Amino acid sequence: MATSVLIIGAGAAGLMAARELSARGHAVTILEARHRAGGRMHTLQPLGYSIPIETGAEFIHGKLPITLQLLEEAGIIYTPVGGRMVEVEKGRWQRQHNFVDGWDTLMERLQDVKEDITVREFLNRYFAADRYEALRRSVKRFAEGYDGADIDRASVLSLREEWEQEDEEEQYHIMGGYEKLTDYLLTQCVRQRCLLYFNTPVQEIRWQQGTVEAVASDGRVFMANKVILTLPLGLWQQESSSIRFLPAIKDQMEAFRQIGFSPVIKASLEFKQAFWLEYEKELGFVFSEEIFPTWWTQHPHPAPLLTGWINGPQAISFTQTSPEKMLQYALYSLAGIFGLPLIFLEQQLVAWQITDWGTDPWARGGYSWDTLTSKAARQLLQQPVANTLYFAGEALYEGASPGTVEAALASGLAAARRACDPL
Ligand SMILES: Cc1cc2nc3c(=O)[nH]c(=O)nc-3n(C[C@H](O)[C@H](O)[C@H](O)COP(=O)(O)OP(=O)(O)OC[C@H]3O[C@@H](n4cnc5c(N)ncnc54)[C@H](O)[C@@H]3O)c2cc1C
Repeated sequence: MATSVLIIGAGAAGLMAARELSARGHAVTILEARHRAGGRMHTLQPLGYSIPIETGAEFIHGKLPITLQLLEEAGIIYTPVGGRMVEVEKGRWQRQHNFVDGWDTLMERLQDVKEDITVREFLNRYFAADRYEALRRSVKRFAEGYDGADIDRASVLSLREEWEQEDEEEQYHIMGGYEKLTDYLLTQCVRQRCLLYFNTPVQEIRWQQGTVEAVASDGRVFMANKVILTLPLGLWQQESSSIRFLPAIKDQMEAFRQIGFSPVIKASLEFKQAFWLEYEKELGFVFSEEIFPTWWTQHPHPAPLLTGWINGPQAISFTQTSPEKMLQYALYSLAGIFGLPLIFLEQQLVAWQITDWGTDPWARGGYSWDTLTSKAARQLLQQPVANTLYFAGEALYEGASPGTVEAALASGLAAARRACDPL
């Protein structure tokens, strides 16, 4: 029998759930707070840029089945990301083969861990000696920079699962950006007669078994048999920005707080010329100790675009900082890395964009990472409440690609299947 389902959020998880349910003949209504779909997938091409920039998700981290299947279905082209990795310390440039210096030693020791501990405890237990100082720094930088994780809380077993696959996998860029994927999913949802309301933040859910009323901020009320909620973790974790439930769902709200989530800031800087080619012809990623510690090029694409990245605990200290000030920090960082005068970089700069996801009102952060208690929390959140309330989103995904678009797509699909085939 056809069921009516409300989906809160038109990001990867919400669109995927909507596509699945509407393909099975259910009546789907999507309510989205923003004026656009895609959520943390957001491609832009403001004036001055020679190619579209990704302010949110950018890479496909390996041969991820759902993402690649959708791209192939849609005929969207994706290309491998290449280039060398370089570490710059006190002006010294050194090529790196892995994200972490001493990767093989790290992976060996990780195999010895049987019971979950935090990354900090792991480093203290296995790499306390002075000779591992560089490795400790490198692991901290990778856990913070790549995963956004706070090493005092992050689960080493979860990171091991992800890192094991990360080292072997090729990464890809989507030609034209993640917007292509959003557009494809959106078009399919609309073709399958999903109703979609933008600028519709949901503030309250009144529910009982088999009936849901979603109240939007302007007072409109949407009714259905079930609801799938795909809000980012940052919103669930702040009472002031979360949805109110009547009756309340205290255990689920507590469970959301058991999963890690941190801010992330991205700087997209286009220059007149790719001046970095004089330093390294095939430059891919640069790791440094600067305020914006991580940068990448578009290699092998020749666009003179550099992307700077501050993630996790490091990003927290910049939440009150203006975009203009962040641009200054970005340029200082590049001046330090390349040993160039600031004035040269200012004269070379053609276009800039700072995106701070920690202050984005509909995200409040970047993506999730696991603490020691995340697994149990996720198990609870994957269970529907009275076969009526369902949760989805990247943070609820169980697998080897956490915190990704793939994770969100998989979670949306799983929630849709649970909603139409209740046990
Ligand atoms: C800077 C950055 C870089 C990233 N890089 C990558 C990458 O390279 N590769 C990768 O795979 N992943 C990357 N990610 C992660 C990826 O973007 C996310 O995992 C994925 O997009 C999350 O999808 P989602 O549907 O779970 O959540 P979202 O995309 O956040 O969707 C949730 C939707 O809910 C809406 N919403 C929120 N509150 C309400 C409300 N009250 N009422 C109605 N609607 C509401 C939001 O506006 C949003 O559209 C990155 C993320 C960030 C922030």
